[in-house]
Amino acid sequence: MECVLLGSGGMMPMPYRLLTSLAVRLNGRIYLFDAGEGAQLGLKETRIGVRGIAAIAVSHLHADHCLGIPGIMMLRAQTEAAEPLAIVGPPGIERFVRQTHENLGFYLNYPLQFKEWAPDENAPAFEDDQVRILWAPLEHSRFCLGYRLEERERPGKFHAHRALALGVPKGPSWGSLQRGEPVTLDDGRNITPDQVLGESRRGRHVAYVVDTRPCRAVYRLSEAADMAFLEGMFLPEDAEHAESKDHLTVADASRIAARAGVKRAVLVHVSPRYDGETLSRLEAAAKARFEGAEMGRDFQTYQVPLPDKG
Ligand SMILES: [Zn+2]
Ligand SMILES: [Zn+2]
Repeated sequence: MECVLLGSGGMMPMPYRLLTSLAVRLNGRIYLFDAGEGAQLGLKETRIGVRGIAAIAVSHLHADHCLGIPGIMMLRAQTEAAEPLAIVGPPGIERFVRQTHENLGFYLNYPLQFKEWAPDENAPAFEDDQVRILWAPLEHSRFCLGYRLEERERPGKFHAHRALALGVPKGPSWGSLQRGEPVTLDDGRNITPDQVLGESRRGRHVAYVVDTRPCRAVYRLSEAADMAFLEGMFLPEDAEHAESKDHLTVADASRIAARAGVKRAVLVHVSPRYDGETLSRLEAAAKARFEGAEMGRDFQTYQVPLPDKG
């Protein structure tokens, strides 16, 4: 699993910093988190491409998080036999996308599947055979959602000696058991995966939380995450400004990451007021509170290791 940061900025795209958009890639499938104006540039620059995008999870209906969606939809329609595209987000996201599509009348060659957050909705925002994406409301000037992508549990370790002791011959049956499928031996005995596999292993977890004041949902979404992309919009000395605008400072973000037990925190949604040189000051302020924090950089790829390194 790898996370590709298409952009790390907030509010407006700048020549030196695109708007925050994150692509999580797993086995060729891409889960995109937010797409502000110019998100296509990040997709081009990182060669992520659009064909593999299975879902776009939108935090909220502020322009810097959703204006890039129509362009991505159009670009995706230039590839053949594309799979359905899921777009999930706050109430109003379906209307925004459908009306834009209707008004601009652009060509689509794949179905759209929408899911909007609802108050008593416990179901994940999105799921497929690889991952599930959870969501929770944050505290921002507009209704805003944070996300947590969880890779599905992986089957436990395969114990060859157990298989041999049970008389399972080395070959295709081993593969079936490793994938979690039962097999029937030539003598008619049935062998189930739990007889030869260890405990199932946790998958990788990635949090994506931007545009919020500090609140409990940030902790919940990022708890023990292998990697968390958190808003680090302002320097600590601009905290008053952050609070009045419902944003996090780098100090807020790294403090939360440390307390939530995040392994690695990448801070994003950096204010356009800071140029490239200020990045090192932002990073120093973040690292002062959490050694595992760093400032996100446009077009950078972050490998997410397996929790047990196996
Ligand atoms: Zn924003
Ligand atoms: Zn916002």
